[in-house]
Amino acid sequence: MHAEDVNAVLSTRRERGIELAKEALLADRSSLAWQAFAACRVADPEAFFLAKGAGAKDIEKAVQYCNTCDVKTLCLLYAVASHETFGIWGGMTPRARRALRSRIKNAHRMTTDILVP
Ligand code: SF4
Repeated sequence: MHAEDVNAVLSTRRERGIELAKEALLADRSSLAWQAFAACRVADPEAFFLAKGAGAKDIEKAVQYCNTCDVKTLCLLYAVASHETFGIWGGMTPRARRALRSRIKNAHRMTTDILVP
């Protein structure tokens, strides 16, 4: 088998694995199957769980790292659904996730008000 073929097979398996991890998370919001595909698996955890007083550069570095991650959306979904209060998850700080959660709640409330008489 040629190297390109091997890479194609591995890529397809990875995509399928991520799809299965997504299904697992949707079925059970505590599922961590997506972490098998996390870019940060080989990174220093302290780069994502920053010490108090960490600067904007440190945050931006972590966010940029997340932007290369194949499971960024699943990571963010997990963190928001699990009320993770520490660390960078899915490229978002705890404050940004709180704001996102609030927007989702408001949108849900407005949608319910409009659609449910
Ligand atoms: S999005 Fe960031 S924190 Fe989440 S798994 Fe990927 S690299 Fe790690």
